[in-house]
Amino acid sequence: MSPSRTGRQRSREKTLKNVFALADLDKGVDVAPPIRLGVFGDPVEHSLSPQMQNAALKQCKIDMQYVRFHISPPELREALDLVRKHEFIGLNLTIPHKVAALELLDSAEENVKRIGAANVIKVESGKLRSFNTDGRGFARAIREEFSVDLRDLRVMILGAGGAARAIALQCAKENCERLVIANGTFEKGQKLADSLRDFFSGPKVLGPVPRLQAIRWEESAFRFQIANVDLVVNATPVGLNRGDPSPIPSRLLAPHLMVYDTVYSADRTPFVSAAIEAGARAVNGLSMLLHQGALAFEIWFEREAPLEVMRRALGGSGSPNTI
Ligand code: NAP
Repeated sequence: MSPSRTGRQRSREKTLKNVFALADLDKGVDVAPPIRLGVFGDPVEHSLSPQMQNAALKQCKIDMQYVRFHISPPELREALDLVRKHEFIGLNLTIPHKVAALELLDSAEENVKRIGAANVIKVESGKLRSFNTDGRGFARAIREEFSVDLRDLRVMILGAGGAARAIALQCAKENCERLVIANGTFEKGQKLADSLRDFFSGPKVLGPVPRLQAIRWEESAFRFQIANVDLVVNATPVGLNRGDPSPIPSRLLAPHLMVYDTVYSADRTPFVSAAIEAGARAVNGLSMLLHQGALAFEIWFEREAPLEVMRRALGGSGSPNTI
């Protein structure tokens, strides 16, 4: 490559926008290296996925780049058509598209159908195939952070939205010892628990408490369950905003617990701080972000993701929590 071309390319890279729009996608986004991957969201400007995925692309010498696209809900259909037209490799979907996109895609893996949400799209011969890597990313994160497998844990999940459903399904598939779903809207938690009942009909016997249960978002219910679980997972957005409280106050937490907060807006989210104050082990959701991203890379390129490079690219970031 001639020095002048390198210089020109560098200057084009320097002027690359932080966030692209539907109009850019329409024009084909003429930059070098070419944009063939991205994340659709609204808002999307704080997504950490570009730094992680671009580091992986560079390491693997794949001459393309991954960018943020600010796509509003009414723009989603046209944006997906443009992704087909411009022969993208794939996409990530984040708030608010994970559920809404499903009816616009060509096929869905079994996980997506059960969870009712997709976070990864792969483009193949103009068709959009959807996947959900949140649950598998979560399982890898738990193994890495706490050196334990889900099958050996009694788990309580806070929330019953997209992330909670992915995590709950993974816990069920890995035959965790117990699963408790706590959600503000109790009926939604109950519905999630009911959908997983088949996984919990097996022979694991654990005394008087049920293996699968939905509970109300109440202090007395938390107090009882915390004595009967090992891992508590926050899969609500509580902790995303500065000034948010811990979803469960410190006085209800206990030293035997492992606490995983899927939020990673700060090193110590309110939940992580409350858990540490109670003597528990606790981490934020950065490791889940890393592993769901590595799994997405593997879906797109059918090769192993350079995990350590991706981890370093995420390292030390205190940006807000969107993928
Ligand atoms: P979602 O589908 O909108 O679900 C939100 C859930 O949180 C619902 O169950 C809702 O309860 C509950 N909730 C909302 N506000 C609450 C409050 N103030 N108190 C108690 N519960 C509340 O959202 P999602 O897609 O599942 O995402 C949830 C969070 O997961 C995100 O904010 C993000 O932090 C995290 N996440 C992290 C990763 C990662 O890689 N680390 C990946 C995906 C998601 P109701 O049903 O009662 O409304």
